[in-house]
Amino acid sequence: MVKKKSTKKTPKVHTNGVFANAMQQLEHAYQYMKVSNDAKETLAKPTRFIEVSIPVRMDDGSLKVFTGYRVQYNDARGPAKGGIRFHPQVDLSEVKALAFWMTIKTAVVNIPFGGGKGGVIVNPKELSKHELERLSRGYIRAVADIIGPDVDIPAPDVYTNPMIMGWMADEYGTIARRYQPAVITGKPLALGGSKGRNEATAKGAFYTLMEAVKVKEMTPAETTVAIQGFGNAGSYLAKMLHEAGFKVVAVSDSKGAVYDKDGLDPFQLAKVKQGKGKLNGVYCEGSVCWGKDHKEISNEKLLELDVDILAPAALENVITKANARKIKAKIVLEVANGPTTPEADTILHKKGVLVIPDVLANAGGVTVSYFEWVQNKQGYYWSEEEVFDKLKELIVPAFHEIYAGMEEHSCLMRDSAFVHAVKRIVEAIEAKGTEDQYKTD
Ligand code: GLU
Repeated sequence: MVKKKSTKKTPKVHTNGVFANAMQQLEHAYQYMKVSNDAKETLAKPTRFIEVSIPVRMDDGSLKVFTGYRVQYNDARGPAKGGIRFHPQVDLSEVKALAFWMTIKTAVVNIPFGGGKGGVIVNPKELSKHELERLSRGYIRAVADIIGPDVDIPAPDVYTNPMIMGWMADEYGTIARRYQPAVITGKPLALGGSKGRNEATAKGAFYTLMEAVKVKEMTPAETTVAIQGFGNAGSYLAKMLHEAGFKVVAVSDSKGAVYDKDGLDPFQLAKVKQGKGKLNGVYCEGSVCWGKDHKEISNEKLLELDVDILAPAALENVITKANARKIKAKIVLEVANGPTTPEADTILHKKGVLVIPDVLANAGGVTVSYFEWVQNKQGYYWSEEEVFDKLKELIVPAFHEIYAGMEEHSCLMRDSAFVHAVKRIVEAIEAKGTEDQYKTD
């Protein structure tokens, strides 16, 4: 019997900004799998999003109203899950994209969550610690009705940290009038956080990179690395690679980059970055550039260095069609979310660069967040060794399945990761009912 072609058109997405890139990635991956229109329709839009205004009483007595978002992209496989970003460049398109990538990421490592993300338009470095606490608590009051341990579970992201998660979990508990640690992950240990959560994103990236290095038959001692971004993920990754014998030749932060062909010491640079005190008691006041003896270069130049491995670990859209041809690294390890644009992806692929996609490379963070949630739910806590063993058990096989899929289809590793994840999401969507069940003939 010839299967009747569905007359329904594939939904076209017309959105600007980062979300358009995310949808382009999804459409690109559709070439390598069969997906029903039901699933395509569902995955083209977030399930729910809100914009909130958060009034904050500033230390000088004035009132400032901040804009925040929470996007729940898809919850077919479980409650929405994903961080909250505090950054001046946050916008709805970005938060939607990040929430979509979380949906893919949780499916890549097969943890029982969907995808969500939050953001507040703010430069948190300009706030005092008290203002930051009032903003964090205010954000939770604004979104309290739509989050919860079985609904949507936030976590840290760019410029948010365990202290902020602690304030947020506490605020939620006050509203709910009960101890509810499983509503937020990435908390301080004393408030139900998990051992290993701070290092988790870097650890996952490290595990995936080690597999790639084995496949490519590279040896750490002869492998050079440049890392863009020296925040939580970037700085831990630099230290892990340094300890494993790799030569980390360049690192950067928002103030600039340092380069040394003989290798840098990330432990020493972490101290330099810390500065004399800490900016508002929360953020580093220093910069990796404040270290002596190293050549200072720009963030853009860092991306184009003649290194074996490049790890963008900061923000989106740093590898674009404007610089992709100049990238010399053999492996790009996407520790940041969305650092490579779709055009750049194609250019790098043609050049033979292996791009280990964000949805796999940085999935360690959300995976250990899942472990934190499980520990909160069962009230029984694991050792750090147990946490990292379990992380490895999930992420290493995911790397190999995705790598094999890439070789089978001669596609981008990102396409293969999307195929791997979308199949799981679609299975959940279709288990609730399919178009075929409603056909009358
Ligand atoms: N913000 C991290 C990410 O982009 C972690 C999210 C989480 O732990 O829920 O994956």
